Amino acid sequence: MSSDPTAPRGTLFIVSAPSGAGKTSLVRALLEQIPGLELSVSSTTRPPRPGERDGVDYHFLDEARFLERIESGRFLEYARVFDNLYGTSQDAVEARLDAGADVILEIDWQGAQQVRRVLPEAVSVFILPPSREELHRRLSERGQDSAEVIERRLAEAVDEMAHFSEYDYLVINDDFTRALGELGTLIGAQRLACRRQQCLHADRLAELLAR
Ligand code: GDP
Ligand code: ADP
Ligand code: 5GP
Repeated sequence: MSSDPTAPRGTLFIVSAPSGAGKTSLVRALLEQIPGLELSVSSTTRPPRPGERDGVDYHFLDEARFLERIESGRFLEYARVFDNLYGTSQDAVEARLDAGADVILEIDWQGAQQVRRVLPEAVSVFILPPSREELHRRLSERGQDSAEVIERRLAEAVDEMAHFSEYDYLVINDDFTRALGELGTLIGAQRLACRRQQCLHADRLAELLAR
C-alpha cells in the first residue's frame, strides 16, 4: 500500500461475529480480492491453533506481557473473550490508516464499543450465521477446538449476537460467495465517500470548478 502523504486517511472497518460464523474465512477472502485492504493482527493470550502463525494470525503473548502492554497504553482496545485476552495495537492501526490503507479489525463487541468511542468514524459490520444449528455445525467442522471449548463458544454466541444492532451494517453468512460480495460492496461504497474522492481527485475538481 502506498505511503503517499497526500493520500486520504483510510477507513477503519470493525467486523464482529459469534465464533464460527465465518468472519475469519470471509475476511481472508476479502483481503485477497481487494487491494489496499489490510488486516490488523491482534494480540492474544490464547494458545495458537494448529497452523496459526505468530505475527500472521495473531501476536501470541503470555498474560504477563499482555498486561505490560495494557499498562503502557499500547492497545486501541482490549477485552477478555472466552478467558483469553485479545487486543488491537494502537500504533500499527493508526500508522496504516495514515498511510491511506483501509484496515479491518476482527474484534468482539466489547472491543467494538471501545473503538467507536475513540474513532467514531469507524464503519462496523456484524456477521450472523444463518441459524444456530449451522453455527454449531461450522464450529464442530472447523475441528480446531475441543468439544468443551465448542460448547462454551456456542453458549456465548447468543450474548455476542445480542449486540448486532450497535453495528452500522448486518451481513448474513449463509451463502459464502454472496456474503463476500456484500462485504466487498460495502467497502467499495466507503471508498466513494465524498471526503475521500475529494482528496483523490483534487486536481480534477479544481479544473472542473474553475471560473
Ligand atoms: P474465532 O472468532 O472463533 O476464530 O476465534 P478467535 O480466538 O480468533 O477470536 C476470539 C474472539 O476474540 C472473537 O470474538 C474475536 O472477535 C475476538 N478478538 C480477536 N481479536 C481481538 C482483538 O484484538 N480485540 C478484541 N477486543 N477482540 C478480539
Ligand atoms: P470465525 O472466524 O467467525 O470463528 P471461521 O471463518 O473460522 O469463523 O469459520 C468457521 C467454519 O465455518 C470454517 O470451517 C469455515 O470454513 C466455515 N464457513 C464459513 N463460512 C461458511 C459458509 N458461508 N458456508 C459454510 N461454511 C462456512
Ligand atoms: P478465536 O480465539 O476463535 O481466534 O477468537 C475468538 C474471538 O475473539 C473472536 O470472535 C474474535 O472476534 C475475538 N477477537 C479476536 N481478536 C480480537 C481483538 O483484538 N480484540 C477483541 N476485542 N476481540 C478479538
